[in-house]
Formats: sequence, C-alpha cells, structure tokens
Amino acid sequence: MQQDCIFCKIAAKEIPVQPLYEDEHLLAFLDINPAAPVHVLVIPKKHIANLLDLDKQDQSLMGHMLTAISQIAKQMGLADDGFRVVINTKENGGQTVHHLHCHILGGRSMTWPPG
Ligand code: AMP
Ligand code: ZN
Repeated sequence: MQQDCIFCKIAAKEIPVQPLYEDEHLLAFLDINPAAPVHVLVIPKKHIANLLDLDKQDQSLMGHMLTAISQIAKQMGLADDGFRVVINTKENGGQTVHHLHCHILGGRSMTWPPG
C-alpha cells in the first residue's frame, strides 16, 4: 500500500465504496465523477502506478483484469450496445490518480478520436 494513494485506501476499505465486483486481486466501483451513464473503475488491489510499471509477474493479473472487465460489462448491461475501456497513462494520457485503473464507459455512443 502506497501512502496517500486514494485507490490504495479504497482497496484497503479505508475509504468505503460500493463494490460492483471484487475478488482477491481486483475491485470495481462506480466513478465518483461519471463521464458516461455507466462509468466503472476497475483497480488492482496492489499498488501499480501505471502501465509503465507493469512487469512480467503482472501478466496474469492483467489478463485476469480484462476477463473481469468482460464480466462486469455484461453485468452492467453493456454487452448489447458495447462500451469503451480506457487506461489513462501519465500527463498526456490524462491520468490524475496514479494507481493503475481501467475505466469502463458505456450507456452512450463514444466519439473517436477521443479528446
Ligand atoms: P484518471 O483521470 O484516469 O486518473 O481517472 C481517475 C478517476 O478516478 C476519475 O474519473 C475520478 O472521477 C475518479 N475518482 C477519483 N476519486 C474517486 C473516488 N473516491 N471514488 C470513485 N472515483 C474516484
Ligand atoms: Zn495505490
């Protein structure tokens, strides 16, 4: 656990959230400032700052995360119309919380390219 990391605090239940999905390694919950009608964040419970900090040992975790995202998207009713998964990384990616997380965005049509 990294001091002063809000998502570590959420993973440790120091900041309560309503879990949409939880297992030993992952937690999913609603984004506090939704950018779409359905906006879920999926975080690894262990602190990883961003995609650049992944190492070989994280391969199974990340595969597991994508499989969980598929399940959560179905659970949230996004399977028929589709959805977007985003991982913002550092400044140019628009990352504001430096604990790796996937955004699942759905419930409306997305534009491309993103802003
Ligand atoms: P990013 O800009 O990719 O780092 O995304 C961070 C996301 O975390 C933003 O969409 C915020 O709205 C969201 N967020 C920050 N604090 C909380 C919180 N306490 N609970 C839920 N979502 C949060
Ligand atoms: Zn953290």
